Amino acid sequence: MPVGVPRSLGFFYLHPLYRTFLAELGVRWEESSYTSESDLARLDLCPTDEPCVAVKAAFVHVDNLLRKGCRKIFIPAVVSLSETSYCCPKMMGLPSMIKAAFGLSDEDLISPVIDMRDNPKGWPGTWIRAARKMGVSSQARASRALREAVRALRAYEEGAVRSRESFWDTAVMGHSYILDDIFGRGLLERVSEYGPVVTAENVSKEDAAAALHGIFEGERLWTIEGRILGATLHLIRSGKVGRLIFVSAFSCGPASIIENYVAKEAGERGIPLLSLTVDEHSGEAGLLTRIEAFMDSTRTPARRVSRAVVPAGARADRRGCGSGTPDKERCAVPGPGGAGGDPHGRTLAFPDREPFASAIRDEGPIGLVDMGHLRYALRALFAEMGSEVAMPPPLTEDIVRLGKEIAPEFICYPMVTLIGQMRKHAEDGIRKIVMIQGKGRCRLGWYAQVMEEILRKNGYPVRVVSVDSPLPLSEKWERFVESYRDLSGDAHFVRGLRGVRIGLAKIAACDRAVDLLREVRAYEAERGEGDQRFDRFLRELDEARNPAEVKAVFAGYRRDMKRIPRLRVDPLRIAIVGEVYVVNEPFVNKSAEKILGSLEQRVRVYRTLDVTSWLDYHVFKRPRAVIQYGRVVSCAAPYLPLSVGGHGQESVGEAVLAKRLGMDGVIHLFPFTCMPEIIAQNILVRVSKDLDIPVLSLMISEQTGVAGLETRFEAFCDLLEGRRKRSL
Ligand code: SF4
Repeated sequence: MPVGVPRSLGFFYLHPLYRTFLAELGVRWEESSYTSESDLARLDLCPTDEPCVAVKAAFVHVDNLLRKGCRKIFIPAVVSLSETSYCCPKMMGLPSMIKAAFGLSDEDLISPVIDMRDNPKGWPGTWIRAARKMGVSSQARASRALREAVRALRAYEEGAVRSRESFWDTAVMGHSYILDDIFGRGLLERVSEYGPVVTAENVSKEDAAAALHGIFEGERLWTIEGRILGATLHLIRSGKVGRLIFVSAFSCGPASIIENYVAKEAGERGIPLLSLTVDEHSGEAGLLTRIEAFMDSTRTPARRVSRAVVPAGARADRRGCGSGTPDKERCAVPGPGGAGGDPHGRTLAFPDREPFASAIRDEGPIGLVDMGHLRYALRALFAEMGSEVAMPPPLTEDIVRLGKEIAPEFICYPMVTLIGQMRKHAEDGIRKIVMIQGKGRCRLGWYAQVMEEILRKNGYPVRVVSVDSPLPLSEKWERFVESYRDLSGDAHFVRGLRGVRIGLAKIAACDRAVDLLREVRAYEAERGEGDQRFDRFLRELDEARNPAEVKAVFAGYRRDMKRIPRLRVDPLRIAIVGEVYVVNEPFVNKSAEKILGSLEQRVRVYRTLDVTSWLDYHVFKRPRAVIQYGRVVSCAAPYLPLSVGGHGQESVGEAVLAKRLGMDGVIHLFPFTCMPEIIAQNILVRVSKDLDIPVLSLMISEQTGVAGLETRFEAFCDLLEGRRKRSL
């Protein structure tokens, strides 16, 4: 029986590595064909609708291979392809999503890991173990096969580089698994009819990497998307391209970050840009009509040209496909007042940057943005440092509108509310805004600098001061001190430490108070009494001037909460898991816990993910938090053995743990287009089935309404109650 190799995602970049490895091992394998029209009709093989079309197609490819009799499926987990950056979380999580959806055993899913960033020495070992699963026990043979495979990949990548050419008519930038599969709809062929075309793979890694130097921590952009962006910037800045087509999948996470830099550079250099978003509904006719309109309306200057540059191998066997519904198009043609095309096609005035310089110098108060009840800790921290602040504008529909108007279309929802708060600050004359930052596997690490870019592009002369963890000290201490000086006016570090101490005390008191409130809501005789006391607690907490006062405020609150009359009930026990911002920000999750706490059924909500637990594990490495994290990760391991960024792995582990702790159900809350949680949502379908625990996964966006949420929660609690009655 041949081993099945799905032609999806990583395969398009790494097929020389996969093919050479399997050939060197002497393993028979079967590759799935390119995605077909009939395949597009079966994308519901993917258990959830949220993943991008490239991921959904992978499920069809695996199903085609299993139908052909392949028992084992070879699909590596591509974590990182360079020492400095990760790959898109979906490339990391795809094997686990496939395993969960098809119920594959550990023996039938062959998923070695590529992790050149965090496990440069260990990842080859996973390929040796993979070889053993395919019947090759010789370690020497497997190591040799991997060495040959890496060599073949390097040769293929070098072979695709076209550094000699000095000019191309059009650059078509996008993922190979979009452009070279049905989703590209013959786009490259059509554009090549107008003149030579260049793609990201044609620009050398070195040139692409060099072009990213102008972006703060550009080398940490997702590997493939960093290459796409670097190649684009290199071609534009070196004057090697006449116009640009940027193609991305609907709701593509990394594209929502890099498209800002692409649009800005094209706009500033006067390069016509067409941004296309494709998904399973994109039709060939519609796509080609737009391309023709763009190509006909953007003549490129006549330069020395040479023959079209379709790289060897993958592209050679590309095919045209059938027609479908029109596609979304965005076209930005640079002109006066229009520099830096807006990917959403809105005509926004982009005044030149330099005038900002003077405005930014006289900075005034520091604008704060927040999450949940963090504002109380932030006010105390900055007060201790003697820094004047502008408190976070309370989240409202209007703030969301301000954010949505300028945020990238497929950015994860937290950025929409945060940039909305920043825009409100900027409109109120605030010039300096502080935001946390820390490059990881998901997009959060890019928020601060991308939000600054977007606000400035929209005419707001602001500076976003990003604060990253000082660890590892060798790498990050200097930058941490720099941002401390920037935010504290160089206050003595003792004042900073005092500020951190009271800030942490307020965070811890708040998180404990919220958990006590969850308990009281489940039992209180008079509904709402707990919430009233909690609101008073927050006011008192805000006035507390030192940790001792914080302690006293919490003690008073706890005493009063304990005194609230309670009913003798056995509430439903529900664990809330998901993305940190959504589960902690009541405005964004529509006060989900309060809704659950006010339903007819009594519900005791449990949630471990809060600011205290995040800091305890990620910053202070407190032993209890490290042990708890290990427990959650080991619960997740059979379903999702590796981190996919954010809290994706933890959400799966927490759901498994919830079952072990006797919870009745799990509610999984995550933001629109959140990559790690979309992976978790997909795998939780299997967890729920295997462990017989109901899981309600809800994607939260600006369209989420309170009434809709209430109805979902009521139905979910009815289900849980029914199960309880049946189990008695
Ligand atoms: S989200 Fe984007 S980068 Fe990630 S797999 Fe989908 S198309 Fe690729």
